[in-house]
Amino acid sequence: MALYEEQTLKIYNSLSSQKEVFQPIHEGHVGMYVCGPTVYSKVHLGNCRTFMSFDMVYRYLLHLGYKVRFVRNITDAGHLEDDADQGEDKISKRARLEKIEPMEVVQRYTVDFHNILRKFNLLPPSIEPTATGHIVEQIEIIKIILDRGYAYEKNGSVYFDVQKFNKVYHYGKLSGRKLEDMIANTRELTAQDEKKNSQDFALWKRAEPQHIMRWPSPWGEGFPGWHLECTVMSTKYLGETFDIHGGGMDLKFPHHECEIAQSEASYDKSPVRYWMHANMLTLNGKKMAKSTGNNLLPDEIFSGENKILSKPYPPSVIRFFMMQAHYTSILDLSDEALLAAEKGYTRLMDALDLMEHLPVSSSSDLDLKGWRQRCYDAMNDDFNSPVLIAHLFEGVKWIHLIREGKQTLDAGGKTLFQDTMKGFVFDVLGMESAHAESVDTEKLDGAVQLLIKMRNKARADKDYATSDEIRDALSSLGIQLKDGKEGTTYSL
Ligand SMILES: [Zn+2]
Repeated sequence: MALYEEQTLKIYNSLSSQKEVFQPIHEGHVGMYVCGPTVYSKVHLGNCRTFMSFDMVYRYLLHLGYKVRFVRNITDAGHLEDDADQGEDKISKRARLEKIEPMEVVQRYTVDFHNILRKFNLLPPSIEPTATGHIVEQIEIIKIILDRGYAYEKNGSVYFDVQKFNKVYHYGKLSGRKLEDMIANTRELTAQDEKKNSQDFALWKRAEPQHIMRWPSPWGEGFPGWHLECTVMSTKYLGETFDIHGGGMDLKFPHHECEIAQSEASYDKSPVRYWMHANMLTLNGKKMAKSTGNNLLPDEIFSGENKILSKPYPPSVIRFFMMQAHYTSILDLSDEALLAAEKGYTRLMDALDLMEHLPVSSSSDLDLKGWRQRCYDAMNDDFNSPVLIAHLFEGVKWIHLIREGKQTLDAGGKTLFQDTMKGFVFDVLGMESAHAESVDTEKLDGAVQLLIKMRNKARADKDYATSDEIRDALSSLGIQLKDGKEGTTYSL
């Protein structure tokens, strides 16, 4: 029997502002969509926290036995510099400044994004669609919204008619805003504005002559509005209504509000059962911002190259630090907080090592089943990872007591104890063993040195086919050989 039948998972739904019992549309299956990055610069640590929070959600759903289809998109076009459909496309602007192709920008920062997430041990999503790969579908949905009368065309652009929509549906239900208040608080439109009302948002924008990324459409050459891609890609892969939609708190309005409006205007259906929003990461008590210098990139934490830090921290410690806070709480990062997290992480990992060699008695005087249930109860309470971690440290305390002979454990209890500890630490929280990381590097180095030796021998024997084969095979694995005066070295 799958675990999920025995558990009652509750999720805080941003749409109803309360915790609700999770009931997927199709029993045993979960469809989950998370807004991915706009790949025009290196991924921020704050974004990493959001993606890590939903990785934990994904991992727990898998752990409970659900079959999960997890879709996380890549925004590679259409995201303008400000929310009012003004300014340049973020990717086009970067391409212009760096004098490279927009697709080079996309490639560079998609690779960077994947590398960083791999370091943090995030599982890849089931599907990772791109906005530019779904232009045809975006045009199709605009036609539907136009046909149903909730959009209008102006000079080659198409705008969503928020006021008309709000007569039938409710614009603002996710963010708790009222359209009348929004209207009262916005400036008057000028004659140059194409929109009927400032709340209207672009579904399609006409491409000005200097705009590099453009596609043909029934309304002329242009590009899709940013909110549209998520509606199109989520419904294409998960259906017109699906289970979970996640994203950062900052996306609630207008992005997610617009997604709901687009779906209702197209299919007359609310797209999402459970809306989940992850909170932000601050640095030394203040909002992170490049402009003020109160900023930290993932690579700077791994290398320690930032004046905020006293030393480098491995990705596992950062992950552990983030898991110590509930995903809906603001989390403040500081050097002291990371030092404390590192201590906790080491204590947990050391205890897991000791666990392998715990003495077994004929009886057990620990309530392991009760403890295990408390671990599940924590996670079932809207993925409460900090409470789970507190229970895991109760387990750490027991490990030491058992070793000192102050508590006993029978064989069955030992298996249950180990499976529960490891299941939560590695599978659910996504931690990696510190030892595994260092041993792997040693093994890798040994294997690469052996191949270098074999390649040198092949070269000495003038067997260039073999020596080239070794070099190319290593290169395809991301290991570059470099021949120098002091012999052959390699880089990853
Ligand atoms: Zn989105």
